[in-house]
Amino acid sequence: MTLTRRDFSRLAGLATASAFVPSAHGQTGQHPIGWCVVGLGRISMDHFMPGVKLSQKGKIVALVSGHRDKAEKQATLYGVSQSAIYNYDNMDAIRDNKEIDAVYIALPNSMHAEYTIRSAKAGKHVLCEKPMATSVADAKAMIEASKAANRKLMIAYRCQFDPLHIKAIEMIRSGQLGQIQGIESAFGFNIQPGEWRLDRKLAGGGPLMDVGIYCLNASRYLTGEEPQEIKAYSSVIDHDGRFNTVEENVSWTMKFPSGIVAACNTTYGGNMNGYFRVHGAKGAIEMLPAFNYDGMHLAGQIGRDQKIDELSPVREPMEFTRQADHFADCVWNDRTPKTPGEEGLRDMELMSEIYQAAGLPGL
Ligand code: NAD
Repeated sequence: MTLTRRDFSRLAGLATASAFVPSAHGQTGQHPIGWCVVGLGRISMDHFMPGVKLSQKGKIVALVSGHRDKAEKQATLYGVSQSAIYNYDNMDAIRDNKEIDAVYIALPNSMHAEYTIRSAKAGKHVLCEKPMATSVADAKAMIEASKAANRKLMIAYRCQFDPLHIKAIEMIRSGQLGQIQGIESAFGFNIQPGEWRLDRKLAGGGPLMDVGIYCLNASRYLTGEEPQEIKAYSSVIDHDGRFNTVEENVSWTMKFPSGIVAACNTTYGGNMNGYFRVHGAKGAIEMLPAFNYDGMHLAGQIGRDQKIDELSPVREPMEFTRQADHFADCVWNDRTPKTPGEEGLRDMELMSEIYQAAGLPGL
């Protein structure tokens, strides 16, 4: 039998597709990763848990919460047994729950270190929300604890699992835009009073730690370089009681070894629809919005003729499912996650430099 070129492409396509069809027990026949969710707030209930539900590689098997009623309702939704609901005091007992492989930490920032370290000591892998911690020392301690326990530590940089972000990176790396000359990025929102995000003890800092970190992380993965020089400003414009312990605005520039400069802005004082714009010698791309949970839009122009205009699928928790799938693959195949503790630590060190460049204390 002779195969035409078209037959060959079709068979190759089928072979590739079948490699990605998971069995009932996950892609490699391994059992799905059992997740314990710590902190039942917006990100875990609205995004992470629905994302895991769509994953064939994981399931929610335990919850840690200070609110038993809320936890019982979530347990019913996800088929978690009532005996697998823990609170912050007794959560170390997860050590004895063999159904739990990994812990997802979605608590206020200053609690990330303690709960990551407790989870590692209980013998569990950890996926921790960004920002990794509220100090560089805590971030280092989290990495040490995970290494000592021989467990994985990944920081939940969901955008790095988003197909449109990956496409933007590929366009830059393949040279389609020519030499990159400059990047702009911003992300911010008008915060309501009373949020834990306004309390330095819980948040560690203001919008830079919370949403500016997306611009910082994106500048690093878009260039594939590490910043060499940082200049920054910080200000409080609204003296209305919200910004007594954290900053309201940070604007900063980062110069990379190639000479690319990224100019970034973040605020808690107004809505800045998160975006990035990359200017190259042959063309430019913009993603707006870039850091939302869905509806990302990548647009651009290369030369005179090539237009880029792509939307991510609407209302599908793709990033969270892909992130959880990646974590499962790393656990199953003993691989280092794409966004390990060291990636979170790098951002912590850089945010510390940004604060100091703006005349504020480092982290
Ligand atoms: P949230 O306020 O909605 O939830 C926080 C949870 O922590 C709640 O369940 C709350 O009960 C619990 N908690 C325990 N002790 C607390 C205390 N002392 N004060 C306040 N809450 C306490 O917050 P969130 O928006 O879900 O954020 C949680 C973490 O997730 C943060 O680190 C945040 O930066 C991160 N986050 C990530 C993304 C993302 O897209 N990756 C988006 C939002 C938030």
